[in-house]
Amino acid sequence: MTVSTQLHLAAGIGALVMGIACLMADPARRRNRLFAALCFAMSLWTLGMAAVRSGLPMGPRDLWGIRLFLFGSCAAAPLGLHFSLALCWPKRRLPGMLLAAAYSAAAGVWSITWFRPTPVDREWKITAILVLGAILSTALGLLIRKTLTLPRGPEKRAYLMVTLAAVLAVFGGLSDFLPRDELAYPKFGPVALILFVLVLSGVVLRHRFLDVDRFLVQAAAVIAGAGVMALVLLGALQLFGDRFLTLFIVCLAALLLMPSIGRLLMAGARDLLARPGPLAIAFAEVSRNLPGAESPDRIWEVLREGRKRLPEHSEVILYLHHAVSGTYQPHRFRPDDETARLPEPVPDNHPVPVLLKTDRCPLHQRLLEEEIRESESEPRRRNVEQVLGWCLEGDLRILVPILVEDTLRGWIAVGGIPRSWITADLAASIQAVGNQAIASMDRLEALEASKRRRALAAVGEMAAGLAHEVRNPLAAIKGASQAINAEASEQQVREMLEVIDEESDRLGRVVGEFLEYARPASPRREPVDLAAMASTVARDAKLAGFGIEIEIREPERQVTVSGDPDQIRRSFENLVRNASEAAGTEGRLVITPGHQEDGSRFIRFEDNGPGIAEETLPKLFQPFFTTRPTGTGLGLALIQRVMEAHGGTVEVDGRPGRGAVFTLLFTH
Ligand code: ADP
Repeated sequence: MTVSTQLHLAAGIGALVMGIACLMADPARRRNRLFAALCFAMSLWTLGMAAVRSGLPMGPRDLWGIRLFLFGSCAAAPLGLHFSLALCWPKRRLPGMLLAAAYSAAAGVWSITWFRPTPVDREWKITAILVLGAILSTALGLLIRKTLTLPRGPEKRAYLMVTLAAVLAVFGGLSDFLPRDELAYPKFGPVALILFVLVLSGVVLRHRFLDVDRFLVQAAAVIAGAGVMALVLLGALQLFGDRFLTLFIVCLAALLLMPSIGRLLMAGARDLLARPGPLAIAFAEVSRNLPGAESPDRIWEVLREGRKRLPEHSEVILYLHHAVSGTYQPHRFRPDDETARLPEPVPDNHPVPVLLKTDRCPLHQRLLEEEIRESESEPRRRNVEQVLGWCLEGDLRILVPILVEDTLRGWIAVGGIPRSWITADLAASIQAVGNQAIASMDRLEALEASKRRRALAAVGEMAAGLAHEVRNPLAAIKGASQAINAEASEQQVREMLEVIDEESDRLGRVVGEFLEYARPASPRREPVDLAAMASTVARDAKLAGFGIEIEIREPERQVTVSGDPDQIRRSFENLVRNASEAAGTEGRLVITPGHQEDGSRFIRFEDNGPGIAEETLPKLFQPFFTTRPTGTGLGLALIQRVMEAHGGTVEVDGRPGRGAVFTLLFTH
């Protein structure tokens, strides 16, 4: 068996095993199925070629055998395009027309072999190179474009390696079709394919930190096995001579019929390379709880709770930007050791934030060491060296930046953990936690700011209302006092004094109610029987000559709330006064206390006055909103305050034309 045949054999077995590995890893994923199909096509191509060349069952003149391995090479081109589209195409739906055209063109090239007595003649080879070359160049173009658009970092380097290997595989593979009339040279195809498979596995193993794709990690585990298998088989071939095919079929059957072995391998690979360590689990937990945090304290609490799930010796430090001091301040999560010395804050122009800002990706020790070895730019190397020095000093393994748009808001540094824990999954979960924490803090800050703005606006509005309410009676008092002069009759003086008396009362009421509204005393808590309280208020209203007819519906059982009797009584008085002012002397007010199904208690005030217009409703509880010339506009605002302090609400049903209904609801 020639060297070239053995290479074909090794490439075929490598591709076959990688294909099987991909399918076993996750057959539900389209990318896996496509990559497996591509591997099978490549292995059909190379194994078929090896079989034909070694003169085994498919002899060189066996047209069927030749057509079979040509089928593999023709199918590999559109499958390669399909796979790179699935890998690089940003949209979810792949361009169907392009794929259909590629598959039909490749099928066309292959079907020509049916009509020629010697399928692999010069014309066929040139057609194959042109058509398959065009399809494969499109696939390469996609890979190159994707590589160029990626930001600098390990992922870009991984794609770069895959692209280079693919270029090699495409040109090497196609070179097999070059007519060899004038020049006889060995075939590069299998070598290129072996390299492609090796580079893919190398990329996966080397860059497993930011794996190009998860299934490649799993496939890579089997690649090593495939290499050993190919070598063993090649060695065995020497021993068993032409029994190779039998041996090969036995191995293949073993692989296919005992998927449990494959799964075992797969599970081992997953455990070794992609196991979510306790760190990833803890970060995932934190990231689940963060969105619910409703105060900055709660955010810190969630972070601290997550920290408790981590191994004691590990270190998690969150550096957050502090605009005033122009530094990144460290926050350490070590509940068990509050006394541990906190690291120094890091100034804005320190190499760490500078590098995180330019690279915009997680930095870990291995990556930094590599960068120092490979970097050609001197200033950059120095920067990276300083960052590595900083990490080593604090025994920090990984730094994950928290970026909001173009601003570096901080980073999370994790240390005291084994190198093998640093995976892409871990970096992703740390990043998710960082981003969520910042987003939650920003959200709460915005909420606070808007609350403050609203409070300031309300204060201004209230001051204006108060000034207005004070100015009216003052003007009346001033007018009345001016009218009291030597020429005024005794009758006029008495009238004016009455005005002054009334307006001073009103002034006193406005100021008193306002103070009550602005500084509500926290309610005392004692049992208050709502029906009994309503009766007292109704009796007093009658005595004060309110003139409205009040009916109190007796509840089936006593309606008692825990609250401040004075505040509740004043609220009832305001409602009764409002009803009598709205409904007039002929009015009627029905007061109904009761229990709701959920255990809360209510008391309803239903009058038969004019009701409240739809457009007035939203302003009803605003301080100083009044439609009455003598009103203060504080009555309902006060009731709302009282109800809030009692953990309840006040509800209103305007019912224009039928009379208003106010309901006080005590939920606690
Ligand atoms: P004031 O009674 O001093 O005007 P309130 O805050 O108690 O202040 O009431 C605000 C406004 O709500 C009143 O001016 C009135 O327009 C309206 N209102 C309150 N209660 C009733 C009611 N029972 N029927 C109709 N309108 C009412």
